[in-house]
Amino acid sequence: MQVEYSPDGIYLPAIGLWLDPRATVPAAWLSHAHSDHARGLHQTVIASAITAQLYRHRWPLPAGRQQQTLLLNPNQSIEWNGATLTARQASHILGAAQLLVEHQGERLVYTGDIKRRAPICGWPTEPTPCDHLIIESTFGLPIYQFLEAGIAQTRIANFALECLAAGQTPVFQGYGLGRGQEIAHTLALHQIPCQIHHSIAALIPYFEAEGYTFPVHSGGGAILVTPGLEEKIPLPPTKRKVALVSGWAALDNARARANADVLIPYSDHADFSELLQLIAESAPSQIDIVHGYAAPFARILRDRGYNARQAAA
Ligand SMILES: [Zn+2]
Repeated sequence: MQVEYSPDGIYLPAIGLWLDPRATVPAAWLSHAHSDHARGLHQTVIASAITAQLYRHRWPLPAGRQQQTLLLNPNQSIEWNGATLTARQASHILGAAQLLVEHQGERLVYTGDIKRRAPICGWPTEPTPCDHLIIESTFGLPIYQFLEAGIAQTRIANFALECLAAGQTPVFQGYGLGRGQEIAHTLALHQIPCQIHHSIAALIPYFEAEGYTFPVHSGGGAILVTPGLEEKIPLPPTKRKVALVSGWAALDNARARANADVLIPYSDHADFSELLQLIAESAPSQIDIVHGYAAPFARILRDRGYNARQAAA
């Protein structure tokens, strides 16, 4: 199946469908609600129900504008311009899904952002055999090795408890959608109170609707902010310690780059071994790599016998 890559995004001309487009288009599949994937006011949006809600929160529909939303939850299918579209679970953030496109006997899978291990909040990945795989490579080098969710949660809780026992305030850096809520939920499981930056707190109701619990704030406890805001916390450096929970924490220089005292290498993206596992399970005859280390990762895959190429998305 022909796939076109341009600065506006990924396009399937045979069925008139864009995948996570950056530009405003007639019809778009939104794999998840991160703003580099779900943006713009397209005429038709296809997404999981959770992604559609989060996208609408971040991209409100202006008065007088019309938009058709087709909900496609995991393992549901719709017919679309001669193809069958099926959503498949993706471990990334709440609501994330892969798209399986079956057209004229060919199976194409677009992963969106994905990892293979289960997330703290969200669905586990459903590996989906296909002929043509479009996959991201944000961390597609062997130096990236991440923690299992359960181990990361233990590290998060222990860091907070050790800081509090030493009379220091534990500070976490987390992104506004995904990591932030995963850290907050982990603290709640350990009954650790937490002050949460409003950009993270604003999306918590969507997670609560899926059954995740969050900390009460009763003064004291931990502080959870988006990256860069730890500098603005009115506490002397001797009274606080900062943890970076991120895939970038796998790098030696992450401590200095993020002003972090403690590094917890946990990500909502696949590490190198997870990418290889997911590709082996998909068993594609053609692989297009987008994002991150696309060129070196494509070379690594070719050395392993795969038909892989960097796709300029
Ligand atoms: Zn993402």
